[in-house]
Amino acid sequence: MSRFSCSRRGAIGAGVAAVLGASAARAVIAPRYPFTLGVASGEPAPDGVVLWTRLAPDPLMPAGGMAPASVPVQWEVSEDEHFASVRSGTALAEPAWGHSVHVVVAGLRPNRPYWYRFIAGGETSPIGRTRTSPAPGVMVDRLRIAFASCQDYEVGYYAGHAHIVADAPDLVVFLGDYIYEGNSTAANVLRRHPTPEPVDLDGYRARYATYKSDLLLQAAHQAAPWISTWDDHEVVDNYANDLDKRNGDRAALLRRRAAAYQAFYEHTPLRPAQRPVGPAMQLYRTVDWGTLAQFQVIDDRQYRAPPPCQPEDSIARHLDAVWLTPDCAERHDPARSLLGDIQETWLYGKLAKTPARWNLLAQQTLMMPYTRIDPATPCAAPSVYNSDGWEGYAGSRERLLRQWRDARTPNPVVLSGDIHAFVAADHVDPDDPSRVIAAEFVGGSMTSGNHDATLREATARDPNFRFAENRVRGYARADILPDRCEMAFRGVSNVRDPHATVTDIARFTLENGRPGIRPG
Ligand code: FE
Ligand code: CA
Repeated sequence: MSRFSCSRRGAIGAGVAAVLGASAARAVIAPRYPFTLGVASGEPAPDGVVLWTRLAPDPLMPAGGMAPASVPVQWEVSEDEHFASVRSGTALAEPAWGHSVHVVVAGLRPNRPYWYRFIAGGETSPIGRTRTSPAPGVMVDRLRIAFASCQDYEVGYYAGHAHIVADAPDLVVFLGDYIYEGNSTAANVLRRHPTPEPVDLDGYRARYATYKSDLLLQAAHQAAPWISTWDDHEVVDNYANDLDKRNGDRAALLRRRAAAYQAFYEHTPLRPAQRPVGPAMQLYRTVDWGTLAQFQVIDDRQYRAPPPCQPEDSIARHLDAVWLTPDCAERHDPARSLLGDIQETWLYGKLAKTPARWNLLAQQTLMMPYTRIDPATPCAAPSVYNSDGWEGYAGSRERLLRQWRDARTPNPVVLSGDIHAFVAADHVDPDDPSRVIAAEFVGGSMTSGNHDATLREATARDPNFRFAENRVRGYARADILPDRCEMAFRGVSNVRDPHATVTDIARFTLENGRPGIRPG
C-alpha cells in the first residue's frame, strides 16, 4: 500500500503518525519532490471526475519554487488501488496557472470508486481515492456526505478532517473559508500563518500552500471527491461583490479579488469551466447523484448588492460598513439580491426541473434569520441584523422560499457555513408561517472560533431553531437515503489536539415528503 493511501476505516492515530513520518523522510530524500500540496479530486459525474494537483517543490516560494516553464504531468486512474489496469494521460502544468492541473477524466463507469495518482519529474504523487456518481435516472440506496467550513489554520489542527476520512463519505462538501486571509495578532495562536496577509497572486498562492501542506487536510482530499464553494475569507473578510468592509477603492478590491479567485481555482478540484477571467469566476453549478440527490452549489459573495441599512453615502465616503444594523426598509427591498439576478434565475430554473428527491443547496452563509439579543438591553426589542448574509437580503430569501414552494422542489435542504456554529432550523413559508418549506443545517466550523455569545439564548426563543451550539468545533455528516436523511453534528474534543476524538453532539432526521427536522 502506498505510504499515503488512506485506509478508509483505519485507525486514525496510526494513520496520522504514518503520514507525519513519511513527510519527514520525504524532506530528506527528495527535496525537489513536487507533490507537497497533495492531490485532490472533485466534481464527480457519472462518467468521470476532476483530478487535481499542483507542482510546488518549495510551496511557500513564489511559483511554488517552479521555473517559469510548462511541465507535463502524467495522470493515472485505476479501478483498483494497485493500479492493475490503468487509464492514463498527460496534462500540462502551466506557470500561468501556478503549475496546477485540473484533469477532467471521462469514460469511467458510474457509481464506483477509482484510484488515481500523478507522475512528474520522476516523482510519483500520493494515491487518492475518488468515485463517480450514479448514472442519470438511477435511484441509489445511499449517499454519505461530510460537510465542513471555516478552517482557520492559526487556531486549530484538522483532527476533524481525520474523522471525515474515518467516516468514509462518498463526497465532501466544503462551504467556504477554506483559507483565512488575515493574520492573528493574538499571543496564544496555535500555529501562525508563515506569510503576510495576501493581496496579490503570489500572496494567495502562498496562503493556499500553507493550508494545503497540512497532512490531515490532504488526507481528506485523498479520501473522497470534494464539491467546493467559497465564502468571504477566500478573498477578504466580509467582502460584498466589489466592496470590502471598509468601503475602500472598488477597482483595488476587484484586482485583489481576481488574484484570490485565481488562487482558489488553482488549488481546488474544479472543472476548467470554472476557470476565472479577471475578477469573474462562475462557481455556481449543480452536481447530480442519480435521482437521489442534487447539489445546487451557489455563490452569495460575488454578485450581491451592497449591504443594507448603512449610514448615508457610506460607500462614497469610504466609511466602514456596519455589520450588525438596526432594521430598515432597504433590508426587505425585493430589488436587492444576494445572489444577483442571473444566478437567481439560473437557480430557480434548476429548482423547477430537478430530477432529485433531495435537493441540497450548498452555500456559505446562514439563511435563517434570528432576533439578536443586545447584551446592553437583553429584554428589549428591537433586534439588530447581520448585514453580511441572507438576513441583509430578506427579499432574496423569501423569493427562494416561494420558489421551492411553487416549484414543488422535493425536500429542499440548505447546507451552510460561516457562523462557526452548529445550527438546525426549519424555514417556514413567508406567506404561511405554520408551513415548513425547507431545512437548514449549519455544519459547525472545522477550527474557527465562535462569533456570537448570545446565539444559543437568542435562537432558543424561536421554535423554528431546533438546535444551536457554537462552543464546539467540527463538521457534519449526512446519510441521504430514498426515504430519509440522517444528519449528525460531529464535534471534536479539542481543536488544539491533532488527535482529538469526535462525538455526535446532535442527530436529526428528515423524512421524504414530510418537511420538518426531527430529533434523533
Ligand atoms: Fe469562517
Ligand atoms: Ca465567513
